[in-house]
Amino acid sequence: MTEAKPVTVAYGDGIGPEIMEATLDILREAKANIAVETIEVGEKQYKTGNTSGISASAWESLRRTKVLLKAPITTPQGGGYKSLNVTMRKTLGLYANVRPCVCYYPFVKTAHPAMDLVIVRENEEDLYAGIEYQLTVDAVHCVKLITRSGSERIIRYAFEYAVQNGRKKVTCMSKDNIMKLADGMFHKLFNQIGEEYPQIAKEHYIIDIGTARIASAPERFDVIVTENLYGDIISDVAAEVSGSVGLAGSSNIGTNFAMFEAIHGSAPDIAGKNIANPSGLLNGAIMMLIHIGQPEVASVVHNAWLATLESGIHTGDIFNETSREKVCTREFAKAVISHLGKSPKTLRTVNYKAAEKSGAAHVHAVASAPEERRLVGADIFIHWQKEVEDLVNLLKPFAGELKLQTISNKGLKVWPDYVPGMNLTDQFNCRFKGDKATPAAIADLLQKIAGSNIEFIKIENLYEYGARLGYTLGQGE
Ligand code: NAD
Repeated sequence: MTEAKPVTVAYGDGIGPEIMEATLDILREAKANIAVETIEVGEKQYKTGNTSGISASAWESLRRTKVLLKAPITTPQGGGYKSLNVTMRKTLGLYANVRPCVCYYPFVKTAHPAMDLVIVRENEEDLYAGIEYQLTVDAVHCVKLITRSGSERIIRYAFEYAVQNGRKKVTCMSKDNIMKLADGMFHKLFNQIGEEYPQIAKEHYIIDIGTARIASAPERFDVIVTENLYGDIISDVAAEVSGSVGLAGSSNIGTNFAMFEAIHGSAPDIAGKNIANPSGLLNGAIMMLIHIGQPEVASVVHNAWLATLESGIHTGDIFNETSREKVCTREFAKAVISHLGKSPKTLRTVNYKAAEKSGAAHVHAVASAPEERRLVGADIFIHWQKEVEDLVNLLKPFAGELKLQTISNKGLKVWPDYVPGMNLTDQFNCRFKGDKATPAAIADLLQKIAGSNIEFIKIENLYEYGARLGYTLGQGE
């Protein structure tokens, strides 16, 4: 027998320890060839004053094993705590979050028996980059960061995943009718990269109707690729529609590291009661076994789990009129163990092969082609609580290389030609432009503004890329 593969394990919070124990019991009995290294992350770490929720020794184990099986973590609300999940995904470069959501009809109740979709969610960027600024008492800016390289990598990953797993279609979901630059780039890259995969069908949905369709007709989807926040929301919808949030597992894949977990949270409402469904984490563990090159054990565990579902032995969350016995977490694990070596009769038997290992994990983003980038001005955000005309009168004399073009508030143009009636905030975006815009001209302008005691709170440079604007126009501009 080859040496056991070291795997870092975090028991997590809430129902975490219960479902992890159940999962590890099943893996042990199935003879998974792993050497478990336990680390402590989450609530206990937060309580010691460690705002990141993870200790130095835990990082050390992770850097060595490169594989983490993690139960859910409770993230303390507010108060300077960073989400451990987000920290891990970013620090370990886990850019792809893969979430299969499958129906197990007729054994698990669902309105959509044919549902079998996989969500490939970008995992490091978007609003989850956690970049926020409260620039005045009234308004907070939360930065939605989308990069070309990150988008390209996740889209390519989704297509590669589709090819390797015999999937037929990739659907992109975005909101490019509103976020024309960020989501527009994501959609455009999807179209471009999609051309390299003629054998795969392609389509695009605006995220709102796409989410509605996942809820009403999930069987029409195969692989879905989307940005971080949309992916988070639609995967809970999809898991719930499939029968229970307690069923789906997920993998978080990077070039050097991988993390496997359930998609649900720590369920504090049922923690300590031995009633949670361990299936989500078990499905995460099955994905881990494939990843570390133990596809045979993964198949044995998966088939035993399917056979258990078929036997009607169910935890409370999926208990229905076809169920035979309602069991607790530990008893469910025992039932899966008793089915090891058996295959399902109605549900599809799985037979994983090493080749199905996430080979797409090593997809690299291609550097974007050089494009002419020209500075044309700057948006200077000013904290202002009086009339717009008063601000205009103060700013106009500062015109040099850069001239005041427009002022907007919450993205709506309020000067020139202000249409009264809008609820304004105390931040005005003053757009200065000029043919000879330079960093020095912007600095000069800022100095004049500061010198007259007008409080500027933020500046964004305006660029043009050939004929394409690198900024959006205010509504009405
Ligand atoms: P949740 O997923 O923990 O719970 C939502 C509902 O689903 C609850 O009613 C819960 O009882 C039920 N549920 C969840 N898992 C179940 C299971 N395995 N078996 C049976 N029922 C189950 O979502 P929440 O309540 O919004 O979040 C609780 C905490 O978990 C929060 O602190 C949140 O930040 C954290 N969270 C962590 C992760 C993670 O670690 N990956 C993911 C999501 C949420």
